[in-house]
Amino acid sequence: MHDDVMPSELVITIDGPAGTGKSTVAYRLAQCLGLEYLDTGSMYRAAALIAIRHQLDPADGGVLATAVAKEAIRFDWSASPPSILLDGENVSERLREMDVSAMVSEVARQPAVRVVLVEQQRSIAAEHPRLVTEGRDQGSVVFPDAKVRFFLHADPAVRAQRRVDQLAAKGSDVDLEVVIADIEQRDHLDSTRSDGPLIRPQGAIDLDTSNMSIDEVVDAMVTRVTRAVADSGDA
Ligand code: C5P
Repeated sequence: MHDDVMPSELVITIDGPAGTGKSTVAYRLAQCLGLEYLDTGSMYRAAALIAIRHQLDPADGGVLATAVAKEAIRFDWSASPPSILLDGENVSERLREMDVSAMVSEVARQPAVRVVLVEQQRSIAAEHPRLVTEGRDQGSVVFPDAKVRFFLHADPAVRAQRRVDQLAAKGSDVDLEVVIADIEQRDHLDSTRSDGPLIRPQGAIDLDTSNMSIDEVVDAMVTRVTRAVADSGDA
């Protein structure tokens, strides 16, 4: 829609806790602006799946980081949104299952694992320089110089209900209480880790999505990005 005025290099970051609608709005924003879309949570989920499949201790960061570096985590950029491949197998759906969700924050706490994945994310941006990337540390650690950085918030109860609805749409019947517990546990682990914790990047644009529709969030983002690009004279 607006891709004719977007510069040839433009990184937009979107960070925030689970259930703020990050993935959906990031993908929609990328489509609206004619940019590519990177879901960095899926890379940490793929690392957790590697731990599950190889029965590795998620707390043993060194061993896990070596396995993650060795086992190729790749994206199929021809798919929309890009699917994630583990040794060539499309694991996009598998990564959403509860066993992966339950383990992923422990895996993401490991500094050695983060080093490997952060480096991969920067390489991806070098190859795909017009990118909307979402996660927990994209604006604070991985791309602190990104042109526009967003930080999303939402009430925990709203976030949990969204996750239940998402899983239900995919045929998984999960209990709201279980999802609330999973979200609270992940928020806690994600915000208290030493490396790349979930924090609001300095200078980020805050959006509380509790009472906003997806369209409203995307519209607000498009307005802010278009303005930032125009102001910097990059268009
Ligand atoms: O976004 P999603 O909920 O799929 O992310 C799964 C987990 O991956 C998060 O709970 C967090 O522990 C980890 N993560 C991270 N850094 C990122 C993206 C995700 O630590 N940039």
